Amino acid sequence: MGKSWKDIEMFRRVRVGFCCVAAVAAACGCRMWNEDFSAEGKRITRVYSWGTIRNEEQARRYAASGVTDIRVRNKKSFELAKKYGITPYFGCFTPAGPHPQVMTPEETARHNYINGFDLPAEMAKKERRAIIDLRRIEKHHRYGGNRVDKVDTINVKAIACFSSDKDLVYSRKKLDAILDRAIPGTAGIYLDYFGYSNHRGCYCKECQVRYRFWLKQEKLPDTEANKDRFYRDELIKYYDKIVAYIRSRRPEYKVVAHFYPDFEPDPWFANRTQVDVCGQTVSWYFKWQKRDIARFTRYILAHEKDYNRKGEAVPFIGVNVDPRSSLGSKTPADIELELQTIIAAGGRSLMVCNGSAMIEPGYFEVFRKYCGRQIADGEK
Ligand SMILES: [Zn+2]
Repeated sequence: MGKSWKDIEMFRRVRVGFCCVAAVAAACGCRMWNEDFSAEGKRITRVYSWGTIRNEEQARRYAASGVTDIRVRNKKSFELAKKYGITPYFGCFTPAGPHPQVMTPEETARHNYINGFDLPAEMAKKERRAIIDLRRIEKHHRYGGNRVDKVDTINVKAIACFSSDKDLVYSRKKLDAILDRAIPGTAGIYLDYFGYSNHRGCYCKECQVRYRFWLKQEKLPDTEANKDRFYRDELIKYYDKIVAYIRSRRPEYKVVAHFYPDFEPDPWFANRTQVDVCGQTVSWYFKWQKRDIARFTRYILAHEKDYNRKGEAVPFIGVNVDPRSSLGSKTPADIELELQTIIAAGGRSLMVCNGSAMIEPGYFEVFRKYCGRQIADGEK
């Protein structure tokens, strides 16, 4: 049943970036599309969006495009989500710790370069942005995310060293701030950026001490494979501690995560955590090959309950509508092919970021075709 380390090795060089809607629909009086719009007469019935509802028209378009679950930040978006039959989750938690992660000198130099830290402070924002965009080369990755340049696999964000957050002192404070503000009736919370900026590990003093202690305890030699296993398990432990803390305060909450940045030695470790909804990348913001989208979708669905019988794997796709984006972009036709591929591979749920892409002209029509629902009169 379990995914062996050998299985993982198969995908080692691959860089992965990165319920029931009928019940919701019935509860709010919506009617589902009954036309056959999708591949093989099947369709996506649940969509977790990373978009933001700012007004009524947007709420309506999100609902019509198929969004069933969304993150909200205030009472207005919470109420609009409810009005249109969309389940609201309050806020998004990202890792906290006493200091940023530490990478190798080469990785740090790359991180500084792609963030433009060497550019003069007085440089105009637009000019700075243009230079930084040229320095980031993610969009040159092709064919399922295989990289073309080994040093560009650095995340632009500086992520906190969560392993050093002993007793969750920093994380609890940050989580409490979100949970205390959450509006009653909220279904849960979103998690993001649980990972390493270099997609492999943090090399701060505390992490290195912990690694050496772990080797000693497990009677293992210091090898790359053991290091990968240690950092993967650190990630899993952090996820699980955060999930346990959320449950201690809000037992009814559902925890939804996008597993990002990916952990390169084991891109599909999500099923080892106690997270309820595991958004796992099957296509990033630049285009991936159809065969990889299909393979990844089948894989995450086949293994979703290997370690956590309640865990639910959800195929995640990145969507940028701006062709100038340094991350790459996709056309509505690209999205249509991806949705057909995911559905044909057995996917019936989806997670989308940027969520706002779903309500953009051209893209909206594609999402509505494969995921959408009609909006009942009462929701108008
Ligand atoms: Zn560390």
